[in-house]
Amino acid sequence: MEKLLERLVNAESISGYESAIRDVLAKELKPHVDEIRTDRLGNVIARKGKGSPKIMLVAHMDELGMIVKHIDKKGFLLFELVGGWDDRIIPGMKVRVHGSKKALTGVIGIKPPHLLEKEEAKSPVKAKDLMIDIGAKSDKEVAVAGVSVGDFVTRHGGFEKLLGSRVTGSGFDNRIGCAVMTEVARRIKSFKGTLYFVGTIQEELGLIGARGSIHGINPDVVLGFDVTMAGDAPDIKPSECSNELGKGPVFPVKDGVSVSSAGVRKWVTETAKKARIPLQLEVSSAGATDSSISVLVRDGIPSGSIMVATRYVHSPVEVADMKDIENAVRLGIECVKSVPRYFK
Ligand SMILES: [Zn+2]
Repeated sequence: MEKLLERLVNAESISGYESAIRDVLAKELKPHVDEIRTDRLGNVIARKGKGSPKIMLVAHMDELGMIVKHIDKKGFLLFELVGGWDDRIIPGMKVRVHGSKKALTGVIGIKPPHLLEKEEAKSPVKAKDLMIDIGAKSDKEVAVAGVSVGDFVTRHGGFEKLLGSRVTGSGFDNRIGCAVMTEVARRIKSFKGTLYFVGTIQEELGLIGARGSIHGINPDVVLGFDVTMAGDAPDIKPSECSNELGKGPVFPVKDGVSVSSAGVRKWVTETAKKARIPLQLEVSSAGATDSSISVLVRDGIPSGSIMVATRYVHSPVEVADMKDIENAVRLGIECVKSVPRYFK
């Protein structure tokens, strides 16, 4: 699982430019499914089995990033943010600029404290005032390096093990969901009905890829795999977010868009209980994921998610626990096995 997650993390791909992770995900899924294709928008759709019921498992492939919007005479790159960034974490970050020749390392620097006026030191930095430095001395050098306006930029976090079962990386949102879905596909040998494994595009920009793929597949139920916030970091109160690392996957009862379907909640929570897999329930007014939107597709398709609590979500140093990832896989498999009891 760690190796799979690492391969997915290294396939850096922002919303709208998912080709690197799409290639990795398709390659990982292919041996375990009957058919795999990419739709016109770039969603990966894999199918296993046939007939009813039709269950759609889904994980978004895209991650936050940037797009180069202007190159100044001195060779610095101005950028536009893609996805839900927190401006405060951008200064000091290493990035990869995906030019036409190769991906180049860049850094986002900031004025040293020695030169800051008192008032300046107190005010937060805005992303629009920052630039990427790839080491170029002029706009001509930038062009020779193959970088131009419109190129996408990813965080350069990589994957690393921390103490025990904890791991860190950038783009865990949603490489973790992709890894869980792939592992479910690998471990499920047969299913009476049709199982779809779908990797979607542009979730971070408004659940874009999921809408069309859910519409096209028209499943009986949608089960999403994604990360969600962990509330056990020092600066978060349990009353704000009670999810903890190591306490099992999370079922979102409510997120910022919708309430998970009651039938899906029953399916997932009862299955977890029977299989003795720890499960945390989340009630939130923020966030959304691909499955949240399925209630608005066609005549409404029931949905819910199995999520992995992750610290520092949307930063380049997200932290998760491999035990939760393993339990999310186990719960995904048990849910697929218990489908006949809940969906015909
Ligand atoms: Zn996500």
